Amino acid sequence: MNAISVDVETNDKLKKAKLENGFYNIIDGKRVSAGKTLSVVNPATAKQLAIVPDIDSALLDKAVGAAQNAFSEWRAVPTSRRKAILTSMLNRIGDHAAELSGRSGAIGHVTKRYTPIGVVGAISPWNLPVRLSFGKVLPALLAGNTVILKPSPFTPLTVLRIADYVHDLLPPGVFNVLTGGDDLGPWITSHPGINLITFTGSTFTGKRVLESAAATLKRVTLELGGNDPGVVLSDAEPEKIAQALFDSMFLLSGQGCISLKRLYVHEDIYSRVTESLVAIASATKVGDGFDPQTRLGPVQNQLQYKRLQSVWEEIKRSGAKVLFRGGVPTNTEGLFFPVTLLDNPPDGSSFVIQEVFGPIRSIFKYKNLDEAIRRANDTSYGLGASVWGNDPVQLRTVASRLEAGTIWINQHAIRNPFVPASAYKESGLGVEFGQEGLETFCNIQVIAAKR
Ligand code: NAD
Repeated sequence: MNAISVDVETNDKLKKAKLENGFYNIIDGKRVSAGKTLSVVNPATAKQLAIVPDIDSALLDKAVGAAQNAFSEWRAVPTSRRKAILTSMLNRIGDHAAELSGRSGAIGHVTKRYTPIGVVGAISPWNLPVRLSFGKVLPALLAGNTVILKPSPFTPLTVLRIADYVHDLLPPGVFNVLTGGDDLGPWITSHPGINLITFTGSTFTGKRVLESAAATLKRVTLELGGNDPGVVLSDAEPEKIAQALFDSMFLLSGQGCISLKRLYVHEDIYSRVTESLVAIASATKVGDGFDPQTRLGPVQNQLQYKRLQSVWEEIKRSGAKVLFRGGVPTNTEGLFFPVTLLDNPPDGSSFVIQEVFGPIRSIFKYKNLDEAIRRANDTSYGLGASVWGNDPVQLRTVASRLEAGTIWINQHAIRNPFVPASAYKESGLGVEFGQEGLETFCNIQVIAAKR
């Protein structure tokens, strides 16, 4: 049977409300009781001490709705004000200390220190094998851990060669590197001798890593897929920003987690932006990376190439307007995929919603900023985002409304190992790089001495 909730602070209901010995739930700033109750027992007497509300799931929904509504305002309250409110809370609790607590525990000197976690399993993808592998290995070792590194089977060569050059600088066993087939990753994530997994790869695999690591409660850091939006404001100068936009979109031939994948352009400058991008795309040579004229190389592997082909089939089936589709070398069996720009494809298309890991990009026209920000944020990913324009105040305002771990202004896809990289939503868990990234390779230990 459903519990009946009573909002006891609503004037005329106040008197009628039957509260359970004065213990209420708080929902949306109001005291709430329920038709059903839970009994709280004093273990010293084995007798009932009090009763508290036993709410139903509808009241949980109400509380979650209230917390969601309150979030946008509370997050905008300056930290100094939040601190003042929380201090008043502590003071209020202090006023009732005698009732709330039987004793006071005075802690003396407290020391916080960071200790290494143990054996780190580092798993990296194929798109930036050296940077992403050693971006894990170096801080893990610095913190005092030992490492087992598994690069992607598609791109292990430079990583193996570097490991071979440097391994004798470290004591044996401190840095290990392994390559193997499809079973190796799951063996690492489930291995009881490994204490932490630091993983970079797709969101799909990241979820499997988390699931597998849960069995032994390994610490886990996940850097996953992205579907980064870029918002071009009406005061941007299209011809000035076009090259940087193009490079941000087609970085690594579009095989970048943080490449700009969905571009939202104000209607006043839409045609100038798209014309500039098409001009750059037409002049961009796709080919073998060893040719000095080449600007964009091949797709890295057959699996990825096939995925892109099926995305292209889906685009054709959808009837989406193609703004530009470039050429590829024909005298080779290399995995070259044409640079492709789409003109306002429907927001709900699979190739807009999902991460497209290759040289296919969508450009959208927007009328007003609220609409652009809503569409930019309407994704399950939250790795990076950018805003492009001239007015510094407006750039900052829009940046603060975008939902992603890194927001760039007039640039995109710039990473610095000293700056923390984190993600919103399904783009990851935890932090990599910077001081915060280093700390993820550590336990925090507190030593508290009695005064
Ligand atoms: P992937 O998830 O297929 O593979 C990543 C690594 O995990 C590889 O070494 C692979 O062998 C291994 N692996 C595969 N299955 C596993 C399993 N079940 N358990 C453990 N390990 C397993 O990713 P990919 O195709 O190599 O890389 C492309 C993806 O990586 C894209 O989604 C991209 O956005 C993402 N990425 C993210 C970042 C970031 O910083 N967030 C950086 C680069 C790439």
